[in-house]
Amino acid sequence: MAPLAPTGTPATEAPTAVIGAGPIGLAAAAHLLERGLDPVVLERGDHAGAAVSEWGHVRLFSRWSELVDPAARRLLEPTGWVAPEPDRYPTGAEWVRLYLQPLADALGDRVRYGHSVTGVARAGRDRVVDSGRESQPFTVHVTDGAGRASRLSARAVVDASGTWTRPGPLGADGYPADGEHDPAVAPHVTYRVPDTADAASADPTDAGRHGGRRTAVVGSGHSALTAVVALAALAERVPGTEVVWVLRRGAVGNAYGGGDADQLPARGALGQRAREAVVAGRVEVVTGFRTRAVERTDADHGVGGGALTFVGEDGTRIEGLDEVVGLTGFRPDLSILSEVRLRLDSRLEAPAALAPLIDPNVHSCGTVYPHGAHELAHDESDLYVVGMKSYGRAPTFLALTGYEQVRSVAAALAGDDAAASRVELTLPETGVCGGAGLFDDADATTADAGSGGCCGPASAPSGRAGLPMAATLRAAPQLVQIGAPPSDAGACGPSGC
Ligand SMILES: Cc1cc2nc3c(=O)[nH]c(=O)nc-3n(C[C@H](O)[C@H](O)[C@H](O)COP(=O)(O)OP(=O)(O)OC[C@H]3O[C@@H](n4cnc5c(N)ncnc54)[C@H](O)[C@@H]3O)c2cc1C
Repeated sequence: MAPLAPTGTPATEAPTAVIGAGPIGLAAAAHLLERGLDPVVLERGDHAGAAVSEWGHVRLFSRWSELVDPAARRLLEPTGWVAPEPDRYPTGAEWVRLYLQPLADALGDRVRYGHSVTGVARAGRDRVVDSGRESQPFTVHVTDGAGRASRLSARAVVDASGTWTRPGPLGADGYPADGEHDPAVAPHVTYRVPDTADAASADPTDAGRHGGRRTAVVGSGHSALTAVVALAALAERVPGTEVVWVLRRGAVGNAYGGGDADQLPARGALGQRAREAVVAGRVEVVTGFRTRAVERTDADHGVGGGALTFVGEDGTRIEGLDEVVGLTGFRPDLSILSEVRLRLDSRLEAPAALAPLIDPNVHSCGTVYPHGAHELAHDESDLYVVGMKSYGRAPTFLALTGYEQVRSVAAALAGDDAAASRVELTLPETGVCGGAGLFDDADATTADAGSGGCCGPASAPSGRAGLPMAATLRAAPQLVQIGAPPSDAGACGPSGC
C-alpha cells in the first residue's frame, strides 16, 4: 500500500484528502479521479459505508437509479460490476454490499480504512494566521486503529464525514433533556430506527426491547415516520406493544409528508403508512409537546407500566414509558475543522450561501435547489464540506444532492470553472407545502408557504447575500426526472404549487 503523503510534500504533488467513505465521499473520489486528481479517502470504519451499515435494516425511499453516482458508475462498469435493478428500493445494507463496497474496492488503496481524521489545518498555521496561508497545503491529522497519530499533506480537503454520530437530543431547546443521559435512563434511549418492521427479518434484540412495551418516538422527520411504522408493525404482532409519537409541532399535519404529491413515491408512501397506523389506533399521538426532562420512577410504574416519564416545558407529563426512540435530526461535528476558516450560517451550520436554499424555516416543500462548489465555498480555498454534513442541521439531504455537489467540487478543484458552475440537476420535492420542517403551530399550513416557501407565489428563495436565485445559480437548471412524475394535484412545482 502506498504511504500517505507525508507533511512537507509540495501542495502541487499532494493528494486531495476526502474524509469519509460513505456514498458522497466515494463519489467525490470517483469524480476527482476522472478529473485526473489524486484522491485519498480516509475512513474511520473498517469498510465502505460504515455509517450506512448502522441503519442497514432501513429500506431507502430512493430507487437504485437515484443512489448510484454517474462517475462511480463509469468507474465500476469496466470491473464487471452488475448494476442493481434501477427501479428497486434497496435497504441500507444492500446499498453498501451491492454498490458502496464494490466502488471502494475499485478505488483500491486510495481508500484507507481505520483512519479517523481528528483535525484539518493549513500547514504550520492555525486559524488566525494570514501569512502565507493560501500557498500552504493542508495538514490532515489522522489516528489509525491502533491509536497512532500521523499527518497527511493534502492540496485540497473534501469533508464528507456525515452527521450520523451526532444525533439531536430529546430536549426541545436543543440540549439534552434533564435526565436524558442519567445512568438509569440512558440505556432506555436509542437514537436509531428500530429494526422491527418485518417479522421475518426483525432484529431479535430490537423486537425484545420494544415488544409488549410502551415506546415513545420523538421527532417528525422521515426517520421518525420510519420508526413509527416499524413499531406499529410490531404492535400488530406482539400484544401489549404501545407506540406514543411525540411531536413538538401543534398538529401532525405535514409530518405525514406529501403522500401522492411526493416526487419520491416511496417517501410519500411512508407517511401514508404512518397515517394509517395512527388512524387504526396503533399509535397514540401527542402534539405540541416540548420535552424538558425525562424522569425515572422506581417501584410501581402506574399507567402504561413503564418507569419513564416525559416532562414538557409547560409541565405536561407523558407517563408510563418503557423505551424512547429519539429521532430529532442530526448535527455536524465541526470540531475537526476548528483550525480552518469556515463561512457558516448561524442557524443551520451549513455553508452560508447554501443555507438559504435549504432552510426549513423559510423554504418548504423539501425542494432542493441545485447547488455546487460556488454555494459550498468557505473562506478557506480548496476546502469543501459536502454530503449530509454540508446540510448542517437541515433535514432533507438526498444522495443525489451530494452527487451533484461533488461533481461540481471536483470540477472546481480541477480548475474547470464552467463545469463547476453548471447546474446539472433539479431535485425532487416532498409535496409538503408549508414545510417538511419546523412548524410548531397547529394551524401552520400551506398559508405559511407564501412567506417564502416554494409553494407560495413564484418567489424563489433568495440566494447568497440576497442575490436572486437566478444570479446565484448562473445557469438554467436542466431537469433530470427522478422517481415518478409529480402528481398534478397538490404537487409543488419549482415556481409554486
Ligand atoms: C435512516 C436514513 C435513511 C435515508 N434514506 C435516504 C434515501 O432513501 N434516499 C436518499 O437520497 N438519502 C437518504 N438518506 C440520507 C443520506 O443520503 C444518507 O445519510 C447518506 O448516507 C449520506 O451520505 P454521506 O456520505 O454524506 O454520509 P455518511 O453515509 O454518514 O458517510 C460518512 C462516512 O464518514 C465516516 N467518518 C465520519 N467521521 C469520520 C472521521 N472523523 N474520519 C474518517 N471517517 C469519518 C463514517 O464512518 C462514514 O463512513 C437517509 C439517511 C438516513 C439516516
